[in-house]
Amino acid sequence: MTRIALIAHDDEKPEMIDFVQEHEPQLSEYELVCTGTTGKRIMEETDLSVERKQSGPLGGDTQIGAEVAADRLDGIIFLRDPLTAQPHEPDITALLRICDVHDTPMATTRTSAEFLVEGLANA
Ligand code: PGA
Repeated sequence: MTRIALIAHDDEKPEMIDFVQEHEPQLSEYELVCTGTTGKRIMEETDLSVERKQSGPLGGDTQIGAEVAADRLDGIIFLRDPLTAQPHEPDITALLRICDVHDTPMATTRTSAEFLVEGLANA
C-alpha cells in the first residue's frame, strides 16, 4: 500500500489542511504518517486517520527519516516555513539528506505537493 508522510511547520499548517482536504478521497486510499501536531490537526479537521509520530522538535522528523532509511515511504509532503529558523533544523536537514539517498520524493511547497500526489495517482 502507498505510504506517505505529511509534515508542516506552524506557518504552513493551514496550507497543509487545505491541501489534505482538497485531496482527501485520494489520501484516504493511502497509509499516512505525520509529525505529532500536523497529524493531530489533520485528524481533527478531516475524516482521515493517520499514524502520529513525535512532534517535529521532539524527534518526529527523525522518526520519519528512519522510515525512509527502511524504504517504507513512497513520498513526503513537507511544507516548510522558509522564513523562520526552526529549533530542530539539523533533523530537517537529515531528513532531506536521507530522502536524497533513497530517491524518496519530497515536496516542500503546495505546487510540488500537487505534482507529487498526481504522480502517485498515476504510478
Ligand atoms: P509538528 O512538527 O507537526 O509536530 O508541528 C512539524 C515539524 O516542525 O517538523
